[in-house]
Amino acid sequence: MPNHIFGRSTKGTLPTAVKGDGCYLIDSSGKRYLDGSGGAAVSCLGHSDAKVRTALHDQLDRVAFAHTGFFTSDPAEALADRLIAEAPEGIDRVYLVSGGSEAVEAALKLARQYFLETGQPSRHRVIARRQSYHGNTLGALATGGNEWRRAQFRPLLVETTHIAPCYEYRDRAEGETQEAYGQRAAEELEAEIRRLGPETVMAFVAEPVVGATAGAVPAVPGYLRRIREICDRHGILLILDEVMCGMGRTGHLFACLEDGVAPDMITIAKGLGAGYQPIGALLCTGAIYEAIKAGSGFFQHGHTYMGHAMAAAAANAVLSRILDDGLLPRVREQGAKLDAALRDRFGQHPHVGDIRGRGLFRGVELVADRETKTPFDPARKLNAKIKAEAFAEGLICYPMGGTIDGQRGDHVLLAPPFIIEDAQIGELTTKLATAIDRALA
Ligand code: PMP
Repeated sequence: MPNHIFGRSTKGTLPTAVKGDGCYLIDSSGKRYLDGSGGAAVSCLGHSDAKVRTALHDQLDRVAFAHTGFFTSDPAEALADRLIAEAPEGIDRVYLVSGGSEAVEAALKLARQYFLETGQPSRHRVIARRQSYHGNTLGALATGGNEWRRAQFRPLLVETTHIAPCYEYRDRAEGETQEAYGQRAAEELEAEIRRLGPETVMAFVAEPVVGATAGAVPAVPGYLRRIREICDRHGILLILDEVMCGMGRTGHLFACLEDGVAPDMITIAKGLGAGYQPIGALLCTGAIYEAIKAGSGFFQHGHTYMGHAMAAAAANAVLSRILDDGLLPRVREQGAKLDAALRDRFGQHPHVGDIRGRGLFRGVELVADRETKTPFDPARKLNAKIKAEAFAEGLICYPMGGTIDGQRGDHVLLAPPFIIEDAQIGELTTKLATAIDRALA
């Protein structure tokens, strides 16, 4: 077993990655793996991006690290400016951290501090959704919906309750319009706020497109706008976790731009550093920032590596690749091709219940029975088998077993690099089909 990740697995070995080449990773035996999921929706530019590499070399020749207690840096300032310029309306402050969990943790603390400093100390509860993952630090873990992950760490740091996500394939009733379903799903939030007492709730946290725990499940049109209205009506902050679905993955730099919704805070990470550097960010509205400024004047937070110059330099190059080199339209175009290829390959598959997603963020849900949508018995460990079979074939994909109303369900998440070519989309779907059929055999 590998020594540097002692907690990941106590058995088995992993190949050693020695080189990146576009959409492929190469191990020490020379075997090539098509990165169909960007690891976990991280490597949006593939593994050998020239612009990012040049930016990192240049920055290393200037300065690698200057502690934010003493200095700011050009790359950190440029990054904040660019993120704000592209962010939804009202978002005009950036707090740089080193990853997704840190970004969510910062958001939770900022929300709490905001209510303490604006004279609403009773607002401490969080509402999130059952299919969600928000990170592994104690606050973020408390917020996520995966009971299995949370159970052993009770009592949890943040009091969080969970409502159903907007999960059309599972929950839209026959004959119900998307609009009516979106309204019904959003009303769950209203009911939960009333049950808890609005004066005790500080934030609703949600992924605009549910990633790892459900397999690229976008909300139906209108759902997020209704959620925004409900949060506003009750004075609750809307925190959108775009750690996985943000940074162009859906074909828009921020996924919520497509929904026409401006949250109070957004968390991003993964694709922001594209795997070249660990970096994340919390973005918030000027209103929140001003309230803290007028109060204690100081956000009670901070990490040693926040605003790291190398990480910020990488992120600037990533943003430049995405925004200046036309990658957003490319994500939409290649995403539509991936969707078509998946439908072509799996549309009639007896065990594929749903194919969904946006841009280059796609999910394939597996079911024992297409008619009843019954998931496979979790004892089959189907997702682990698909992962292993795909890996043997030279495909990296991200199969997971999500929880569907207490039952496990299996899906495969796909999030390939934005540079994926048509032929590689073909390779991905062919290898995935082989892996799924072998795992089912
Ligand atoms: N939020 C979401 C939506 C995520 O998908 C993840 C990571 N899978 C996180 C937060 C946590 O990010 P990190 O692993 O970088 O701490």
